[in-house]
Amino acid sequence: QNERGSWFSHKAETARPYYYSVYLADHDVKTEITPTERSAYFRFTFPESEDSYVVVDAFDNGSFIRIDKENNTITGYTTKNSGGVPDNFKNYFVMKFDRPFVTAEVWSGDKIIEGKKEVKDNHVGAVLGFRTSKGEKIGVKVSSSFISEEQAWLNLEEIGSKDFNEVKEAARNAWNDVMDKVRVEGGTDEQLRTFYSCLYRSLLFPRKFYEIDKSGNIVHYSPYNGEVKSGYMYTDTGFWDTFRALFPFLNLMYPSVNKEIQEGLANSYKESGFLPEWASPGHRHCMVGNNSASVVADAYLKGCRTEEIELLYEAVLHGANHVHPQVPSTGRLGYEYYNRQGYVPYNVGINENVARTLEYAYNDWTIYTLGKKLDKPASEIDIFKQRANNYKNVYDPKYKLMVGRSDKGEFNPSFKGTDWSRDFCEGNSWHWSFCVFHDPQGLIDLMGGKKEFNHMMDSVFKMPSRLGMDSRGMIHEMREMQVMNMGQYAHGNQPIQHMVYLYNYSGEPWKAQYWLRQVMDRMYTPGPDGYCGDEDNGQTSAWYVFSALGFYPVCPGTDEYIIGAPLFKKATLHFENGNSLVIDAPNNSKKNFYVNSLNVNGTDYTKNYLRHEDLFKGGTIKVHMGNQPNKNRGTKEEDMPYSFSKEQ
Ligand code: CA
Repeated sequence: QNERGSWFSHKAETARPYYYSVYLADHDVKTEITPTERSAYFRFTFPESEDSYVVVDAFDNGSFIRIDKENNTITGYTTKNSGGVPDNFKNYFVMKFDRPFVTAEVWSGDKIIEGKKEVKDNHVGAVLGFRTSKGEKIGVKVSSSFISEEQAWLNLEEIGSKDFNEVKEAARNAWNDVMDKVRVEGGTDEQLRTFYSCLYRSLLFPRKFYEIDKSGNIVHYSPYNGEVKSGYMYTDTGFWDTFRALFPFLNLMYPSVNKEIQEGLANSYKESGFLPEWASPGHRHCMVGNNSASVVADAYLKGCRTEEIELLYEAVLHGANHVHPQVPSTGRLGYEYYNRQGYVPYNVGINENVARTLEYAYNDWTIYTLGKKLDKPASEIDIFKQRANNYKNVYDPKYKLMVGRSDKGEFNPSFKGTDWSRDFCEGNSWHWSFCVFHDPQGLIDLMGGKKEFNHMMDSVFKMPSRLGMDSRGMIHEMREMQVMNMGQYAHGNQPIQHMVYLYNYSGEPWKAQYWLRQVMDRMYTPGPDGYCGDEDNGQTSAWYVFSALGFYPVCPGTDEYIIGAPLFKKATLHFENGNSLVIDAPNNSKKNFYVNSLNVNGTDYTKNYLRHEDLFKGGTIKVHMGNQPNKNRGTKEEDMPYSFSKEQ
């Protein structure tokens, strides 16, 4: 494939959500592709030649291909995968060309198989020859299925008899419909491009893994047990990343999609005995936490409800007290220690123990909160209420930071706050110590009050980014933090992404407003190198989308969005319930990034948070922006957002 590959330039490339084209310079061929949900239309523009070819490559690790010359079609499958699938996994494909082949051969490895029209081997494909005049276009409709070849042909009906331009126009309209739910105005061209690029990325994952059978039923190939089952299935998302802002964003703007995802989660539990933590397409061993609890709870509590909620609740309880026998990041690794001691010790052979403890404590709070909403008895949910305080067990007052603890209760003597050590996950204690989403007030109390807490927060931005770099081999998250030049604020990775908003709990919301604009301006730009780190299934993009609108879901499972500062002069959200919300900040500008006052539907609004239900009612939020902070706004106790400590 290296020898047949062509040089190309990004300058000769067009990339849109609904269309991609590139000029393959070595062969003088323009290639275009436009999609439907499960199919795509390819078009190749050839030079004048007796030898114009299309190569079909079904990949290595087991593939099959068949040529049907009479019908101008190619069918086959690949079994190539990177794990997380049953043994019978196949990705079937079908291709329908718009003209006869002049030559058509199958190949295996690096050899043409003479005289054969089908072949099954480790790595097979086909070479299709055409005679073309200059500028002649060859079209091919392509589809695939995880179920069968027959289903792949059904999926190709998404294109049906449409021509290339009709498919392209339909794809453009489909993306416009989805993206038009969020309309921003009054920014620079660069800000608009950045915003809609982030919105686009937020909407790419998770992906539909389900198909529609010949009777019109929703069906899916189970990546868990290998059977074809009825109902929804989505895949390709890591909840460790996406529970934070991506799923809350779906609950706000696209709840009908998350309803399907939730039903898919119920199917995952039925087919595998666990909710996924990192699905791709089955359970994958990746990252920490038990954040499926957050994804289920936040959806239900925000009104995105399925009839499967009792089963999902059962699944959440199961995940809290089990670990998947083959995939230890599914369920809860170390739950026995956590349940017994209130934390996962650092000296029992479980890495990332502090990170796990902090997330399990938050996950327990979401289980408690969901259980309460479902009227579950105290005898069932009180234990989770109690464990929601477990974050306190890894807090070391000596450092005012979260520190690993041994099974005997001693803090890790080799602790250093800036070390990207194995007690944490892709970060150091300065990144993880603020991961108490459900109880910032409890964390403030631990650190000695608001003044001390704010000092710790300020320190994150002031500490040199070179610290902690020699504690392990460089991972890209470390380099990304360094090059951003924002101290220890590692926005390119997930654990710290909510942190700036915590100034809203500690009486200094203007500092959040300042840093949010810094992060939006410096770490998100529309150029090829304009992205600050891990995109991670839309999480880092959803952070930007929320933050540019002016609020963020610090604690999924509450009904609150914590107020930041809008980026645009005007934003309009069109909700699925038919209501619209305008965020109106006419004097917003590069210099006017502070929120001086807020007015919701005609009433002065002093709180540091907005409620989900209030947003859903629609109306207008007027934001008066200024170039100086209003240090009186949002500082009173009654204006602070939810903290678990205050509930107890
Ligand atoms: Ca990440």
